[in-house]
Amino acid sequence: MANNFVRYEDLITIEEYDEETDKEEFVLLPLEDDLVIGKYQERRNMLEYGHQIAVRKTVYKKLINVAENLKQINKNYKIIVVYGFRDMKKQEKYFNEILEEVKGKFKDEMEMYEYIHEKIAVPVVSGHPTGGAVDAAIYDSVENRILDFGSEILDYSTIQCYYEAENISEEAKSNRKILRKIMMKEGFAPYDGEWWHFSYGDKEWAFYYNKEKALYNQVEASRIF
Ligand SMILES: [Zn+2]
Repeated sequence: MANNFVRYEDLITIEEYDEETDKEEFVLLPLEDDLVIGKYQERRNMLEYGHQIAVRKTVYKKLINVAENLKQINKNYKIIVVYGFRDMKKQEKYFNEILEEVKGKFKDEMEMYEYIHEKIAVPVVSGHPTGGAVDAAIYDSVENRILDFGSEILDYSTIQCYYEAENISEEAKSNRKILRKIMMKEGFAPYDGEWWHFSYGDKEWAFYYNKEKALYNQVEASRIF
């Protein structure tokens, strides 16, 4: 299907990351809190190191600001993060699994990389292993549920995960707009292919905001834990 989502060929234009900002530490998101909570929805996403989601420290600070802004809209709202840091080793494993399946089917290597990139980011440009990318939504703490966004978070099985999906309710469209607006206000870059995906400091962010370098490189979990 044709779309205008950011491609592998776009992301490889960002060749470098800043070694100083990449030294920044990781923090674990709280499981319970009035502002930001981190809760995995899928077991396979969990790190071997525990049940808490890890992100860069600046990302957490920004999420707190996002949550405080949300409270102005509705005091019951908070930010729920269902995925953050992914071990670079895992990214490479998933990528290589698909690569093994499809290699030989493509004459053009770039075409093959684009095809795989739509399913799983090519490791060298991937966002989650930097600790800068989050999959997030707005959570209503009184109703104990994620607001209606027109599709379940992390459900890639239908095109309703596209930010501009047409066949969703007006309420869902409005919730997507609100989430995107407050995340971008804090400097996160959105991704049109998944309404829940936002990043700060990775190559996608650098490309979106025309930065020369990313702030963070991809890392293995053994560096953090
Ligand atoms: Zn994501």
